[in-house]
Amino acid sequence: VHELSIARNIVSIVTQVAQEENSPRVCVIHLEVGELSCLVPSALEFAFEVAAQGSPAEGAKLHFKHLPVMVFCHTCDKEVALPSAQRFRCPLCDEPTSDLRSGRELEIARVELEDRAACANC
Ligand SMILES: [Zn+2]
Repeated sequence: VHELSIARNIVSIVTQVAQEENSPRVCVIHLEVGELSCLVPSALEFAFEVAAQGSPAEGAKLHFKHLPVMVFCHTCDKEVALPSAQRFRCPLCDEPTSDLRSGRELEIARVELEDRAACANC
């Protein structure tokens, strides 16, 4: 995973959000990260600090929410969350499954912006 290119991407997205909302600064960025994304949060935080310099996102905090790996089990006929990304077996019936439904995502779930009212997170 190239953390710096991901960080630049995040900075450009949240900068656009801040401009659209007429906000001078981004306070907190909530990210949703799948267990299989191979992302190293500390590496991304470091890359983000570098990428955000001079932008409205400078000094913003990153919050990570880890999403479980979801697979579809054809035996149980439903989507189930894997307790471990190392073991691709249904936790209910123990059948092997490779029908991956989610777990690789890296998404910006929410952006907290500074506005004229006091921001609780700054
Ligand atoms: Zn099953």
